[in-house]
Amino acid sequence: MTPAFEGLNLRIDPRSEVNTAEADYGLAESGNGRRLAVLAGADTHALRALEGGCSEQSGRTLLLGPLSPRNAAGLRAQFSWLRPHPLGIRTSAGLGDRLGMATPGHVRAVRAAGGSIAPIFAQQSVREMLRTGRTPQQVMDDATWGVFQEGWRAGVGADADHLKSTGDIDNCLAAGFTFFTIDPGEYVDGGAEAAGLDELRERAGRLPPDSQPRATGLLGRSIDVEGRTLHFDEPALLKAVVKYGRAVEHIAAMSRHLEQAAAGRPFELEISVDETEQPTSPVEHVYFASELRRLGIQWVSLAPRFIGRFEKGVDYIGDLAAFEADLAVHAAIARQFGPYKLSVHSGSDKFSIYPAIMRQTRGLVHLKTAGTSYLEALGTVALLAPEFFREIYAFAREHYETDRASYCVSAQLARAPLADAVADAPGLVNQFDAREILHVTFGSVLTAVTPTGGSWFRDRLVELLRIHADRYAANLEVHFLRHLKPFVSYGAK
Ligand code: ZN
Repeated sequence: MTPAFEGLNLRIDPRSEVNTAEADYGLAESGNGRRLAVLAGADTHALRALEGGCSEQSGRTLLLGPLSPRNAAGLRAQFSWLRPHPLGIRTSAGLGDRLGMATPGHVRAVRAAGGSIAPIFAQQSVREMLRTGRTPQQVMDDATWGVFQEGWRAGVGADADHLKSTGDIDNCLAAGFTFFTIDPGEYVDGGAEAAGLDELRERAGRLPPDSQPRATGLLGRSIDVEGRTLHFDEPALLKAVVKYGRAVEHIAAMSRHLEQAAAGRPFELEISVDETEQPTSPVEHVYFASELRRLGIQWVSLAPRFIGRFEKGVDYIGDLAAFEADLAVHAAIARQFGPYKLSVHSGSDKFSIYPAIMRQTRGLVHLKTAGTSYLEALGTVALLAPEFFREIYAFAREHYETDRASYCVSAQLARAPLADAVADAPGLVNQFDAREILHVTFGSVLTAVTPTGGSWFRDRLVELLRIHADRYAANLEVHFLRHLKPFVSYGAK
């Protein structure tokens, strides 16, 4: 133990310890969970924002408090490195965490990768919060405790992901999020792809005057993007306008709302159309960027719908050379019309394309992952308690067909082994179909209740991971080091 807490009969996690002129802070390990320990001198001002039991310790005051929302807020108020802030266009990675227990492992991976990648540990989509029953504040606080525990002091962002409404913005803003991902997917018209010219003209005519092709200033133009010429003839522009016009309007409205609601607090904006049917063509990408600019919107990253399949929790499915060629144009557009980052959603486990992403974006990239940390949790359970894991898997199989809706997955139940037939539980987490089945059923698993109203899996899962926190963190560290290493060489920019 370090000198600050010496002689107090407290087991302080040394990574968490931080000393200020007024008080010493740390996480105390006790038999029934961790406590926040704060030891203040004569001036006990530092304790005022915190809650817990206080005692005198040879002229100093010791507070031992719960890992509560109030104490998380108190620590964020005290330490700037716990407060999320905008990351700008640095190479960055979002490491979402559905259980609220993964941040220690995430921190270790970012650190092991050299610490040059700007991390987002608090990241959750509105859909995930709904399915797990977590609030934006819980997501924020769980990340705060993880960052505090691991002593990560190099700064963090916080991503309120896939926001669909102004209400979503308000809730996440109140919880301290600083990175707002607006998803206008419901306003993207996938039918534009197959529509004929007359139909496109007719549909474009129904848009408000300020969204019509003439207003864009792009009609008939040829735009040079790093030596490639993109032509905005009438059919190309019409298609872009019909497909994305309403989405642009929605983004403008959401962005104006955010700007007002933030009332001067710094934030950054991402735009994501990754969860739509048709890939975003280079011409459509230029249209998008050009329109956002014309409307005075500032954004730090954009997630196009890339070609190929970005299924959840598994590697890229598609032609690698075609992907890289397409990505090259999108990356050039992002440099020329920004610079802003290309955001790679459903970015976990896409090991085969990371080198291409690095080559083409030259580090102007945000990698976004979420469910893969839940899969690592299940992998940890499979090692420690294979019977319990089989129970979860059997349940997941039952709920897959319902839960897969709104997710990009192609797993088939018929190709995934039956729970009773699983001999190698840890290995099953890496079987393609089983992996996707486990990935998208997290909400059903985590919110399942017993006939008497208790938690069916969640409490046991959380308890197991709490007892074996270091095992889970170690598994996450290995898994995410694989993700982050390809992005490191550009991270220092
Ligand atoms: Zn996404």
